[in-house]
Amino acid sequence: MIYLDYQATTPLAPEAREAMLAWLGGPESGTFGNPHSPHRMGRAAAAAVELAREQVAALFPPGGQVIFTGSATEALNLAIRCNTPVRAGEHTAFSAIEHAAVIDTVKAIGNWTELPVGPNGVIAPDVEMPKYVGLLCVMQVNNEIGTIQPIADMARRAKETGALLLVDGVQAAGKMALPQQADMIAVSAHKLHGPKGIGALWVRDGLSLTPHIEGGGQEQGLRSGTLSPALCAGFGAAAKLAVERRDEDAGHVEQLWHIARDAFSGWTLNGSAEHRWHGNLNIRKDGLDVARLMSECREVMFSAGSACASGSGRTSHVLRAIGLSDAQAKSSIRLGWGRYTTREGMQRACKLIIQAAESQA
Ligand code: PLP
Repeated sequence: MIYLDYQATTPLAPEAREAMLAWLGGPESGTFGNPHSPHRMGRAAAAAVELAREQVAALFPPGGQVIFTGSATEALNLAIRCNTPVRAGEHTAFSAIEHAAVIDTVKAIGNWTELPVGPNGVIAPDVEMPKYVGLLCVMQVNNEIGTIQPIADMARRAKETGALLLVDGVQAAGKMALPQQADMIAVSAHKLHGPKGIGALWVRDGLSLTPHIEGGGQEQGLRSGTLSPALCAGFGAAAKLAVERRDEDAGHVEQLWHIARDAFSGWTLNGSAEHRWHGNLNIRKDGLDVARLMSECREVMFSAGSACASGSGRTSHVLRAIGLSDAQAKSSIRLGWGRYTTREGMQRACKLIIQAAESQA
């Protein structure tokens, strides 16, 4: 089995698994304490959570707080639903290629403007911005086509209009520096070799949000509920490893990019090659029957480019936003790789996919 779906999720790092196991003990272990209890076991669990918070904080710029959530989707909901401008009814602007966690949340509240992207999958720095924007939402790296957005320009535009900037850093965290200029940044552990079921929102110091989940007042009163020390520890270990290995991982990803690009040189790339995370290849081939290709390449785990990443069955709004026709979107596939993908695995996967595609001709 060759796994090439790193934008959907990533394998758990062995180091993260180890860190989690230490907090999954049984009755005699002394490690099952509630991190919000004042006794010794509770304090030990709380110390593990705070160590993890520091490790996760190292992914972000200095000058902010990390709030643990159950996912990046929840972190984005917290950022969008619980900040003052949005609550006061101000406009929210977002790029046309944001994840459904942003688009659907903003639309559920109302007063929104969608900002277009070019055919290269990048927002133009001089994109027309509505006058009364309270919140601007821009992702750093797109999950479907891997394009990298001009966050510094967007931050400048947000400042001009007095808006807050929310960055969806899910596909960027652990791979590149997260932006200094953001007011809030959402990330997810399972996209950086941590466990599923935990994410975080980084909130710039001085910015106050209203509670998202009421109850016991955990996470600075914003997100009540007992934290899982095991999930926090796994997230922390994965974040630490990502920071330590950033250059090594990026070098490996770049080598695999060249293998894949050479192999698929006859196919058309969706989105910019240059402004792109090189662990993503979203490509198309005229007339390709993607469903048939996937059923004939069962050894390779990859994704149909046209399927919306949320798994909702909707056609990809991202491929539509960059101007692809329905037929072009339907003949697209997405390959994603990373730390644990081998060169041999990549070569074999490319060969299998190309052979199966050619057999359709
Ligand atoms: N934002 C982006 C860019 C994503 O790729 C994803 C997951 O696919 C999310 C948000 C949602 O993350 P989570 O799975 O933690 O809810």
